[in-house]
Amino acid sequence: MTRVGLGYDIHRLVPGRKLILGGVFIPHGRGPLGHSDGDCLIHALADALLGAAGEGDIGQIFPDTDPRYKDICSLDLLRAVVARLKKKGWRILQADTVVVMERPKLAPHVAAMKAVLAPLLGIKPGALGIKAKTQEGLGAVGRGAAVLCWAVVQLGPSPGKRKKTKK
Ligand code: MG
Repeated sequence: MTRVGLGYDIHRLVPGRKLILGGVFIPHGRGPLGHSDGDCLIHALADALLGAAGEGDIGQIFPDTDPRYKDICSLDLLRAVVARLKKKGWRILQADTVVVMERPKLAPHVAAMKAVLAPLLGIKPGALGIKAKTQEGLGAVGRGAAVLCWAVVQLGPSPGKRKKTKK
């Protein structure tokens, strides 16, 4: 049995915050406003993973009212989500993502994001899609005031781990 999950996230971009996407620092004059480091790509991925496993969403598991998660590196959140799924008997088969941001150009950073995220997810870089798009100047994302991400993941049972459930 395989499962599919969908994740979405959006963050305002403001001066004085570091831009971190997919665990990679990208030099830019603005960064995402957020309780954590605001890594939009990781948040979308984490929600897709949790959704596929029927485990809720990151807002439930890591509430932004909890001071423990203030400015936390989102890679730590993703690591915790992956561990949670593994414990439940799931393994990640593939992930595909879209990052929508007007500037800066993200294409030069995609390989670095894959190098960070694929091993963390336990998949080959070829099984992780990261596509950088712009919003063609439309709306808040098009004005450069926000970054938006989508993620889709597919899970399968860990070999010998997941018990068969009765229908
Ligand atoms: Mg977020």
